[in-house]
Amino acid sequence: MHNETIGEHLVRCGVSRRRFLRFCLELAVVAPAGVAWADKTRGAEMARQIAGARRPSVIWLHMQDCTGCSETLLRTSAPDLAELILHLISLDYHETLMVGSGHQAEASLHQAMSENAGEYVLVVEGSIPRKDGGVYLKIAGENGIDLLERVAANAAAVISIGSCASWGGIPSAAHNPTDAVGVSSVVRDKAVVNIPGCPANPYILLATVLQYATAGTLPLLDDLGRPLFAYDRVLHDHCPRRAHFDKGEFAGAFGDEGHRKGWCLYHLGCKGPVTHAPCSTRHFNEVVDCWPIGIGAPCYGCTEKEIAFRVPMFDTVKPESFAPAASFAPIYHETKTVSPVAAGVAGAVIGGLAGAGLATARSLDKKDEEEES
Ligand code: SF4
Repeated sequence: MHNETIGEHLVRCGVSRRRFLRFCLELAVVAPAGVAWADKTRGAEMARQIAGARRPSVIWLHMQDCTGCSETLLRTSAPDLAELILHLISLDYHETLMVGSGHQAEASLHQAMSENAGEYVLVVEGSIPRKDGGVYLKIAGENGIDLLERVAANAAAVISIGSCASWGGIPSAAHNPTDAVGVSSVVRDKAVVNIPGCPANPYILLATVLQYATAGTLPLLDDLGRPLFAYDRVLHDHCPRRAHFDKGEFAGAFGDEGHRKGWCLYHLGCKGPVTHAPCSTRHFNEVVDCWPIGIGAPCYGCTEKEIAFRVPMFDTVKPESFAPAASFAPIYHETKTVSPVAAGVAGAVIGGLAGAGLATARSLDKKDEEEES
């Protein structure tokens, strides 16, 4: 069934054209700017590209993790989980979500690997323990290092989701008792896309996988292997508390007047000024303010290799720059590939487009309801 396109699959599942267009509009709203197919000015073309793509087979391995990245995927509501999993990708192996267990689960992994050899996308969640030959993690009698090397060998693309899979994360914090490392320390013969975050934003994963499905390419990466479309600038640049930072209005303690008024959290240890992540423009689970700074907690730099779980949470960091961004680059690169400076003013631009997209999506929803009634 993996030869059918997403469009064919949608028709087979009885998904209406209107619902699919609504889905594309919603996806355009949440998708990062700069991805080739996510040209928000050409919704129909975007829908055509997605519909014509083959559903990529995805194998998802769990290593030393808390399943938080899977959990945030489960909390995704636009597109909701059913659409995400059942329509866009073929999630052929995921220990937490699959129905089978034990030998059945291992048979599913074997089948997915053999039927899609060289074509499946491998997503890894969690760090890999190397100490004592990797004995601290075993799945079906195989240690994590061997399992990862075996599955990665025939993968078309390898994606590390979350800070643990990207470079060790919490399990690698001092004194790293299991010698936990990220995927790229084990898989050395192919490019690994790192999507750090604790948890990672699921839309970055979805956008990366869809770019692979529609264009056969992976996004441009920064020097830490992160997609530039999402990690090209510090979240401080678009933080809703930024005006207070510029004005010198800071919370001095949790619960003080400045904290209650929503002032800048820099003196409480906020790592936003050095943390490259889209959190301030793309919140989690489609809930406004559903991110640390939105609820009054300082950013702890979970997407930065040398900060998260390395620098104490309430220690301050030196900002990369005290000045607001002086200029913004075009949102779309001429070649329609990922622009390394694309997402900057995208917050404002996407905001407008998002409003239009959501309004259109909602009006389609309303029409659907009217037609059904
Ligand atoms: Fe926002 Fe933190 Fe920057 Fe303050 S220091 S503006 S809270 S990102």
